Amino acid sequence: MTITEKVSYLKGLMEGLSIDSLSKEGKVFHAILDTLQEMALSIEENSKVIDEMTEAVEMIDDDLTAVENMVYGDDDNDSFNFDDDEEDDDIYEVTCPECGKTFKVSEDMLDDGETVCPSCGQSLEFDLQIDPSSDDPDNEPIHF
Ligand SMILES: [Zn+2]
Repeated sequence: MTITEKVSYLKGLMEGLSIDSLSKEGKVFHAILDTLQEMALSIEENSKVIDEMTEAVEMIDDDLTAVENMVYGDDDNDSFNFDDDEEDDDIYEVTCPECGKTFKVSEDMLDDGETVCPSCGQSLEFDLQIDPSSDDPDNEPIHF
């Protein structure tokens, strides 16, 4: 039984009792039933709207998943996959003590202990002093 059907059933019960609708009690019962009926209609209307919105959100979610698969790639779509090796590489920012220019080096280059400044050609040796107070040490400039 839906909520509106229950209200109709209540109405029928009340009519069966032949309560005088002009009596004080009758007025109260009528007012209660009218309120119940309005609430029931309101609830049914809301449920319909919620169902429609749920359906719309599910469609948006499906569409978004399709877009995400296109952008980020999935197992079925190799052409959009990024190179995982390159993604895992940590990149550090280095300031050249000779010319003051900053440039990026990979962790592999840091492990070698030296590199050549791309701006001035100065050979640089690394003395790793990554700031331990930083939240993200990967992006912290290296101090010489
Ligand atoms: Zn330099």
